[in-house]
Amino acid sequence: MSESSVDLVVSDARVVAERGTIRGGVACDDGRIVAIGSDACLPPADRVIDADGNFLLPGFVDPHVHLGRRDAGYPEQLEIDFETETRGAVHGGVTTLLNFVEQGDQYLPDWDDFVDVGERNSYVDFGHHAVMSHEHHIEEIPGLVDRGVTSFKMFFNMYKYHDIDIEPCEADRVHRVLSHVAEYPEAVGMFHCENAEIQREMERELRESGREDLQAWRESSPPVAEAMQIEHVGRLTRFSDANSYAVHVSSAEGADVVERYRREGVNLHGETLVTFLVNTADEDLGVWGKVSPPLRDERHQERLWEALRQGVIRHVGTDHIATSKEVREGGEGKYGNMWAAPPGIQPGVEFFLPMMVSEGYNRNRLSMERIVEVCATNNAKRFGLYPRKGVIAEGADADLVVVDPQATTVIDDDFFHTREPRWSSVHGRGVQGLPTHTIAGGEVVVECGDLHADPGRGSYLHRGPGGETA
Ligand SMILES: [Zn+2]
Repeated sequence: MSESSVDLVVSDARVVAERGTIRGGVACDDGRIVAIGSDACLPPADRVIDADGNFLLPGFVDPHVHLGRRDAGYPEQLEIDFETETRGAVHGGVTTLLNFVEQGDQYLPDWDDFVDVGERNSYVDFGHHAVMSHEHHIEEIPGLVDRGVTSFKMFFNMYKYHDIDIEPCEADRVHRVLSHVAEYPEAVGMFHCENAEIQREMERELRESGREDLQAWRESSPPVAEAMQIEHVGRLTRFSDANSYAVHVSSAEGADVVERYRREGVNLHGETLVTFLVNTADEDLGVWGKVSPPLRDERHQERLWEALRQGVIRHVGTDHIATSKEVREGGEGKYGNMWAAPPGIQPGVEFFLPMMVSEGYNRNRLSMERIVEVCATNNAKRFGLYPRKGVIAEGADADLVVVDPQATTVIDDDFFHTREPRWSSVHGRGVQGLPTHTIAGGEVVVECGDLHADPGRGSYLHRGPGGETA
């Protein structure tokens, strides 16, 4: 090993760097990117990975992950999920994730535990969003900001008729949270936008008519239920002069509202989910397709891809939840009672990148550069992780993924490295476009499907002023 050699070089790649896509490679040293250029310009390295002409992307930043929910109970499940689900993440090319912490009790007395449990178990660097599910959480915002949390989620006004441990969230609470958020330039209010009254009324009509198919679930929360809540968020965001983020936008109408507020200069950003980009309620998914807001149809799906191309929707995430198949099916099997099954999403963090490459790049819906923006760069920027995360640039963390856009596989039980059972809404689907190497902090964590790291290598990302990502 010579004095001047760096730890790692990835060569012969199509590097999707922040300043443009180039043919060449990236040099990494002490966990950071130290050079980007043609192969001939890169320094000697202790180890060289030949990318063989494949893409080199920044590791994906999943802005929407729920670890530790359901099954074993919280926080016991958090201990399990941080290992198993982030193991899936690194196999899938996701090197940073933002997790929602949510509990009825106050957060601050338990905060060190929320950080420690991740640092002991996670394969990837992680941050936490805090769910403002109870009035007393709002008083904790300044303390949470001190602890590196800059994003605060509300269910507006969805789930207030459901038997779960959240207090109803109406415009008064939204205003109170956004008033706090507005005091911190980097803070963001996050919103599940779905109108509970419309949903309840539609569901009542559909149940009375005897419907219980997946399309009935879709009809129970029509696009207007989403659009009207985003509309209110846009108005309240402007009124409070705050920053907002609509999670999991599912419909054309929802995207239209985001577009209008953005044009008016309101700081409201929209996120969609990989599920909405690759699934519709017209598939034979049974209760596995019961997500909230619901899967829609092709018209909405194509509008969401278009919104990503146009920069109207700037973020893609997964809403990953490691719910077991049994919990998901409510004990009645895949084709059990649609109304009784719990709504929710699914374990998506591992097929996030393969699906975006397969359905986005390979079907000419998105350029690889735009995929990197919406799945990495913009997510890092929105949540206070840029320029450390989400880009291939000198000085950024050496979080990289080599992607072979031609490689194919089928998403079945064996595809996943998350915990079992490994069901999903894309079960049995073929994909083209797979990661071959995942590098996190300059360490080759996954190589050709083999894991070469231990859990606990990931670090908590303290966001905001005074933090390392300021
Ligand atoms: Zn979610």
